[in-house]
Amino acid sequence: MEYSIWLDVCSILTLISLILANRIKKTASLYRNNLVLQAILILLLNTLVDLIVIGGRISTNRFLLYSLHSLKYILMYAAFAYMIVYTSVAVNRRIHGRNILKLFIAPIIFIVTLLLSNYNTEFVFSITAGGFFEYGPYFAIFYCLDLYYAAIASFLLLRGRQALSRNHKILLPAIPFIFITGTVFDYLFPMAASLQFTSTIFITLVFSYMQNPSEYYSDDSLMMNRDAFITMCESRFSPDSHTQCIAINIHNFDLLVKTVEKNRILHAEGIFIKSLKQFSKKLLMFKINNGQYIIIMDENNETEARLVYEETCNIMKILSNSTRLSIPVYSTSCAFSSPKHVSSIRMVENLFAALKLYENSDNILTVEAENLNLKSDAEIVRIEELVKTALNDNRLEVYFQPIYNTEKKKFTSAEALIRMRDDEGNFVPPDIFIPIAEKSSLIIDIGSFVLNEVCRVISEEHLSDYDFEYIEVNVSMVECLQSNLASNIMAVLKQHRIFPSQINLEITETSASEFTDIVDKNIKTLYDKNITFSLDDFGTGYSSLSRILSLPLKLIKIDKSIVQAPFISTDEKSMILLKNFVKTPISVGFEVVAEGVETREMAREIIKLGCKYIQGYYFSKPLTRTEFVKMIKLNQPAEV
Ligand code: C2E
Ligand code: CA
Ligand code: CA
Repeated sequence: MEYSIWLDVCSILTLISLILANRIKKTASLYRNNLVLQAILILLLNTLVDLIVIGGRISTNRFLLYSLHSLKYILMYAAFAYMIVYTSVAVNRRIHGRNILKLFIAPIIFIVTLLLSNYNTEFVFSITAGGFFEYGPYFAIFYCLDLYYAAIASFLLLRGRQALSRNHKILLPAIPFIFITGTVFDYLFPMAASLQFTSTIFITLVFSYMQNPSEYYSDDSLMMNRDAFITMCESRFSPDSHTQCIAINIHNFDLLVKTVEKNRILHAEGIFIKSLKQFSKKLLMFKINNGQYIIIMDENNETEARLVYEETCNIMKILSNSTRLSIPVYSTSCAFSSPKHVSSIRMVENLFAALKLYENSDNILTVEAENLNLKSDAEIVRIEELVKTALNDNRLEVYFQPIYNTEKKKFTSAEALIRMRDDEGNFVPPDIFIPIAEKSSLIIDIGSFVLNEVCRVISEEHLSDYDFEYIEVNVSMVECLQSNLASNIMAVLKQHRIFPSQINLEITETSASEFTDIVDKNIKTLYDKNITFSLDDFGTGYSSLSRILSLPLKLIKIDKSIVQAPFISTDEKSMILLKNFVKTPISVGFEVVAEGVETREMAREIIKLGCKYIQGYYFSKPLTRTEFVKMIKLNQPAEV
């Protein structure tokens, strides 16, 4: 029977188009994607050799023909091994340990040894004197190897079936299927390249369905994004996997984007990637958020990780002094590892949240992961449960901190602050449980609880009879994103029969600058109903002035870190900064509240700067409802 070259030709054309398509597409250097490309190349070589050696009948030289046939089989099993590694990576989302890899690669070594000895023994095949291929008595060994790979693939898929994405679930079972049908066809129709063809079909499927690199890149950036990070690295963070990493948080990223053209930042990112790649090739880099980068070491080698970390800090220093950017890049970097410091993706996120707390400093910082006080998943779940039961058992309480009006020399407003106790009766700081509640719908329940309590106090205690104007209520970003925020608030006001002017909503700088569409709509609706807003924590984010001006704000609250800085350090700069933070909003018509005023000296200085309102321990700590009402009825603030 004549050998049919058409399946070979089809395979070759398909594989070449795949390689071209891969070149045209933005190439993702995902480990998985590289595996596919390498598998395509090997399969292409294998098919070419098959075509030349069987289809082309190039020569009758027995040794040359034998070598080419052997090469064909080696390439074939190499392509199989790649497919198995690919399956394994897809299932486990990372490359297996060395021992498992040996399982995939051992058959190739076996094949090479077999083929070397087979030249004389002619166990599996032989080349006749006329240059023809002939099956040997043990050719079935090859079929056994096919089945071996089919078995490994099936085992991996069955074991990891729960972890598979939908695309993977449809596609990956094709691997054992391809091995088996390919083998059967090869047996039934030895005169065509069935195995090559079936493998080509599979690789084409993988390529077109799953290789979608653009999904894995942050907009315009050369770096892979958060999705890529989670897909590729989730399994690297668990109590029993060892991974070395570096996290970088750029403090003034938003400011950089606003003041420097975006291209120059992307260029700086490019330099960063290139410099680090020059230093070590075995790195994965992700931009998981604006200004937040994570570097994952491919191997668990502490010394190497330390070196990369030092180099990273060096690059950050160079970037902060670079003359290419008109303002310096301030950042915090931290080297950490799994499972020592983090043991889940969620903890990685907590680590970044902890790094963000360093955002006030104009500096390049490095922090030790040990000092970040990261909460474990168990701790997070415990706090979540605590909030839930506190909500159900009415164990949440609202405290009120009076705010001093410097013109009337009286308390005319207050801020409502939530308090929660744990099972032993100790307070859990809101800075701990609010961010956790914000990750679920719990924050909505907390928000509506606080608003209800506030409205109840205002109406039951008739606070307006004492020249008291309004209570400030903190509204979290998650609440600002609810489309029914406005109607819910209005319903509560109506229920307690209080006026919109008796409350004021505090939004933070970050919530004001993110997700502008929905937040704007909510603010506008509430503003139209006469509810006022203040901007909390002013000075800690980088909202643009034009954005702030576009919001209908009544008050700007200067963050306590800015207010306290000149009184903690003797550095003149912090006073200049504070003056500007107060002056700018006043000059455009906002009223200003200074937070965190703890001494008489501070109060006097702050009044000189022109702040209309002062909030802080000097006048009063946050008080229980009873204490607060007493204080407002008396209304005799400390002297200034
Ligand atoms: P915040 O909105 O900036 O609230 C001001 C914080 O500063 C309060 O901390 C207050 O107790 C504290 N403070 C007031 N005066 C001074 C002072 O003179 N010195 C110092 N060192 N601190 C002072 P608190 O009550 O622990 O609340 C922390 C944060 O938790 C709040 O920061 C706010 O972001 C959040 N939070 C509190 N209650 C609520 C709430 O009902 N809803 C939401 N979404 N967040 C809340
Ligand atoms: Ca506040
Ligand atoms: Ca604040």
